[in-house]
Amino acid sequence: MSYIKKVDPELYEIINREQNREHDTLELIASENFTSPAILEAAGGIMTNKYAEGYPGKRYYGGCIHVDEAENLAIDRLKKLFGVEYANVQPHSGSQANMAVFMTFLNPGDTIMGLELSHGGHLTHGSAVNFSGQLYNSISYHVDKETGRVNFDEVRSLAQEHKPKMIICGGSAYPRYVEFDKFYEVAREIGAFLMADIAHPSGLVAAGVHPSPVPYCDVITSTTHKTLRGPRGGIIMMGKDRENTWGKIAPKSGRTKMISELLDSSVMPGMQGGPLMHIISAKAIAFGEAIKDEFKLYAKKIVDNAKVMAQEFIEMDYDIVSGGTDTHVVLMDLSNKGISGKAAEKALEKAGITVNKNMVPFDQRSPFITSGIRVGTPAITTRNMGSNEMKKIASFINTVVTDADNDDTIQNVKSQVKELCDSFPIYEESYH
Ligand SMILES: *Cc1c(COP(=O)(O)O)cnc(C)c1O
Repeated sequence: MSYIKKVDPELYEIINREQNREHDTLELIASENFTSPAILEAAGGIMTNKYAEGYPGKRYYGGCIHVDEAENLAIDRLKKLFGVEYANVQPHSGSQANMAVFMTFLNPGDTIMGLELSHGGHLTHGSAVNFSGQLYNSISYHVDKETGRVNFDEVRSLAQEHKPKMIICGGSAYPRYVEFDKFYEVAREIGAFLMADIAHPSGLVAAGVHPSPVPYCDVITSTTHKTLRGPRGGIIMMGKDRENTWGKIAPKSGRTKMISELLDSSVMPGMQGGPLMHIISAKAIAFGEAIKDEFKLYAKKIVDNAKVMAQEFIEMDYDIVSGGTDTHVVLMDLSNKGISGKAAEKALEKAGITVNKNMVPFDQRSPFITSGIRVGTPAITTRNMGSNEMKKIASFINTVVTDADNDDTIQNVKSQVKELCDSFPIYEESYH
């Protein structure tokens, strides 16, 4: 595809530089991944031309016969992948999926309870700078200082005290299994809705290497571009559909609506217009890929790699939040190494290693400085790297972090990073 080169050489060069950056650096941002060439092709394809407001068979526009086929294929595959009865594949992103769920189950002013952002939660779980903290009354639970795991004594006492209408489980920087069964117990005790946001571990859940929220949660949201390795986007699922039994949206027609109908309406027309049919097509491909046995092996290797990396760091006297990982995430507290998350991120970037600074639980520093970094293995595992490479990468990180002001050290690591990357190409050809 050389059209961009022909018609817009300026942008072509920008994309080229990004492609080289992706190739030449170690991508350790836990929320990123490399999609397959087939997904890139669909995401850049002709389906972007079609307007299709509505749902398959019920569109506001003509000419939707083939986009209907694509959306139905995505829905069917997603249902099969997670073993759910209901799926909506239209949310443009994970945040939009969450917003649609809130619009369905809550009224503005209702109380929600999610994991504190600085303890591994997400902006959309009630942060003051996000709609979720502005439209709703937000209560946060935390992790335990000793174990780094969700403190269920606190979850239970906050739930009893504040009676949230919805409890949100899951997060963005939580290295351990999300214990859906324990959240279920608490939600049941106070009659709250339970929402699982599996944006991060959804690929691991699909592959069976992380517990599934399906038996426990009323509703499940996810992104499609993190461990699930699809195009950038969001999804909403329910294990079982049921009638809406709360008073909020009393049926005018006399028929009680199903929750699935309310969720569909919250996405469109509630919050979005036309769906991104090119992305929905790419999602269908991603769900098809994730159903295969190779993906199960991939997901298992993501976790194996993260465990190797965590162990290496522990042996080099790093403070790993929760003492290890069950997932693709290793959260490192750098306080005992005398460097901030921000400074570490910057030095590592110079050495060709991309991580993000991250608050650690009970962090004394601001979100702009932070005491930690978050390291993730999904993208480097897609490149086929294994335990030997994990050990090398942990040692690169240690070298940079402990000598962050030394340019010679950084240049030396950078050339080793480049060599490693050259042995594990991402794509065989150029896709732009
Ligand atoms: C990434 C993430 C999201 C939001 O995804 P976007 O597509 O960036 O909007 C929501 N929730 C959690 C827990 C996430 O990690």
